[in-house]
Amino acid sequence: MKMKFLGTCGGRYAVGQQKRQSGGIILESDETQIHIDPGPGALVQAHEQEVAEDTEAVLVSHGHVDHSNDAEALTEMMVEAYNHAGFLMASESVLSGFGDIEKRVSDYHQDLCGEVKKLGEGVEAEFKGLEIRTQEMFHSDPKTVGFTVDNGDKKFGFWTDTEYSDELVDFYEGCDTLVVYCSRPKNEGTRSHTSLDDIPEITEKLDVSKVVVTHFGFKFLESDLEAQKNWLEEQVDPGVVFADDGMDYPGNRKLDAF
Ligand SMILES: [Zn+2]
Repeated sequence: MKMKFLGTCGGRYAVGQQKRQSGGIILESDETQIHIDPGPGALVQAHEQEVAEDTEAVLVSHGHVDHSNDAEALTEMMVEAYNHAGFLMASESVLSGFGDIEKRVSDYHQDLCGEVKKLGEGVEAEFKGLEIRTQEMFHSDPKTVGFTVDNGDKKFGFWTDTEYSDELVDFYEGCDTLVVYCSRPKNEGTRSHTSLDDIPEITEKLDVSKVVVTHFGFKFLESDLEAQKNWLEEQVDPGVVFADDGMDYPGNRKLDAF
């Protein structure tokens, strides 16, 4: 399994100013490709990186714009432009709306897809040799899901938008790589998001070999990223990667040496 990070910023300020791109992550296995959390620009960036055509599934962790904006465009791309059956996996908030969060994918676009799977606490999905499991996170969209993807050889975990909680950690047991949506730098934690200071607590009980930090918010991008990375490397056992727009993981010898 491999990943390509189309976009690596998050939150309304960083995304609104396009401090970095916000198109989400392409996860590629031998058999298929999933586009994860397609924020604004996802469709365009997938084409720029020449990875659009192979996407057969879209996974949306929750209903905020920086994760779901291009989901409808991608369902049309998969199904209409490239004739895939189209598999949409998304939180209840994305598919039906929840509380004051309106649904993010219209009935028309859901009906286009060969299969639509609602993600939530304890849900499992199989897709072309990939096993996907989800849990509910603690975020301002209460239906936000964190998830793992296992191809039988490697297991990638995605710690998505959430406030830190002990209760969420065990779910990522057995992951080789943990992708952390980390909006805030050290000492700048805020409600319902993860900050850099939370990462040592997350990895302490897990046996992951690499932590990939992404979804940088405005304040994080304004900070000294090199210093933030050095600090984290001193705190944790696993190798630390700060994702960049267009980054392939694991991509090259330089990355392996992290
Ligand atoms: Zn969010």
